[in-house]
Amino acid sequence: MTEFVIPVSPQASAPVHGGGRFPVRRIYCVGRNYLEHIREMGGDEREPPFFFQKPSDAIVAAGSPRPGDDPATVPYPPITADFQYEVELVLAIGRGGTDIPKSEAAGHVYGLAVGIDLTRRDVQVAARKSGRPWEIGKSFDHSAPLAPIIPLTGDLPTTGAISLEVDGVEKQSGDLSQLIWNCAEIIAELSSQYRLEAGDLIYTGTPAGVGPVVPGNVITARVEGLPTLALRVEGRP
Ligand code: MN
Repeated sequence: MTEFVIPVSPQASAPVHGGGRFPVRRIYCVGRNYLEHIREMGGDEREPPFFFQKPSDAIVAAGSPRPGDDPATVPYPPITADFQYEVELVLAIGRGGTDIPKSEAAGHVYGLAVGIDLTRRDVQVAARKSGRPWEIGKSFDHSAPLAPIIPLTGDLPTTGAISLEVDGVEKQSGDLSQLIWNCAEIIAELSSQYRLEAGDLIYTGTPAGVGPVVPGNVITARVEGLPTLALRVEGRP
């Protein structure tokens, strides 16, 4: 038996709608996968989307509360004054592979969920301007809230409303049909760069309308047909 010399970290996991937990291995994210979001960020519209990662223990379980229950909370993170939301459809990989063809992508997906790619925007933009990695703006603790996963039956979605509200006011509103790389294309591209494994999550990118939150704000994020994500921001400043 292996004897570890320090305590082993707990397995990161996310709840599955109807029971059970999905063990999280890696969290991949797609950058710049909706045209209107590229425009609001001032990016090059001809550049294809790309991938970055967050640590697996950045997951925050954020299901929709029952009436009267408090939503899950996320701490306002350090070193930012511009803490922003990005609602995203998330793919949960159930079967690994490399060079997965688009036509077989659905067979590698365990389920779907609503997630938020929380971002320290000021820090991300400063890193981008100076040619450094985005990591410090994207890959911090508690930066990957996720609602319960719904097992996939049938094909990957190619349409469906995706939206986000802050304190009941709509901020983001789009449709999965606006994805530059659709779900199958994301899996084909990513699996040409890395071997995908069961337990990987893929945040598929955000539509336009990103913006800041402050402590006390409640974020509600939705993708048609999936459990709603609800989250309250707590702590500083
Ligand atoms: Mn994002």
